[in-house]
Amino acid sequence: MVICSAGCGKNAVLKRPKTGDALCKECFFWAFETEIHNTIISGSLFKCGDLVAVAASGGKDSTVLAYVLKLLNKRHDYGLKFVLLSVDEGITGYRDDSLETVKQNRDEYEMPLKILSYEELYGWTMDAIVKQIGRKNNCTFCGVFRRQALDRGAALLGVDCVATGHNADDLAETVLMNILRGDIARLQRCTAIVTASEGAIPRCKPLKYTYEKEIVMYAYFKRLHYFSTECVFAPNAYRGHARAFLKDLEKIRPTAIMDIIHSGESLSVREGVHLPERGTCSRCGFVSSQKLCKACVLLDGLNRGLPRLGIGKTSKVNKAIIESNKEKSRSAEEF
Ligand code: SF4
Repeated sequence: MVICSAGCGKNAVLKRPKTGDALCKECFFWAFETEIHNTIISGSLFKCGDLVAVAASGGKDSTVLAYVLKLLNKRHDYGLKFVLLSVDEGITGYRDDSLETVKQNRDEYEMPLKILSYEELYGWTMDAIVKQIGRKNNCTFCGVFRRQALDRGAALLGVDCVATGHNADDLAETVLMNILRGDIARLQRCTAIVTASEGAIPRCKPLKYTYEKEIVMYAYFKRLHYFSTECVFAPNAYRGHARAFLKDLEKIRPTAIMDIIHSGESLSVREGVHLPERGTCSRCGFVSSQKLCKACVLLDGLNRGLPRLGIGKTSKVNKAIIESNKEKSRSAEEF
């Protein structure tokens, strides 16, 4: 029998994937929670009195996030209030089931819940979008709409910030994907623990340095209720390759995940490469680096029966839409 390496004298029941330490359950819980607390404090993620929206999908990450935030808030007297914010993409057999888990979290953690649906915000469900565009670019639509839906939900609820369940593996995958695409300019933003665009409510990632395997272990040993089925429209092949590569690296060298995140953090934006300035969309008023935000561009394509219009370079697409709008108003005037 291996004794817990934290020195409590109990038998170890697990080996921490992040450090290789053999720990008993209680010492693992303490180490896991303390690391998240340290991330919150060193990143100054919250202020006393903040109302925090926890982006909740019913999956393991957001369930553990809500549970640990509630626990740390009590243990360290952060003085925070919480609300769960969920987005219903309209995916039959996936989101409808996972939202039931979110409702269970709402009752168990005693946090109010707000659900916003793509159907009410955009007039389209993901089921309907996939019917129109097929299974190739569906995650582009879904990701763009979800980002904006969270902004809209946060504004509606009047929260001070949105906490998301992105974990260390998610971040390392995103760093790899940006490097593989040659998109070095995005590294700073994708590794930032707080992202705050002007006029938008900031978002933070308290699980930024928490390994996915440890989140699963924590949820398992704490017997938390979460939903673990994958989305029925999950073909995101590029991320899938980055994930498989990362898992292979992690097998040989568990610190690879943290090393990749630290590389992404320290790689500075190359001279002459500028991140687009963030402003607001001239149509919907939400955050955008272009005249029209990506959500409005994609929506325009869908509503015109030209869903591929929004896939590709945003500036070219914006020009095409603006030109086509001018054309339409000219014809209307002539008529
Ligand atoms: Fe949306 Fe794609 Fe995620 Fe499914 S896998 S929820 S379609 S982003």
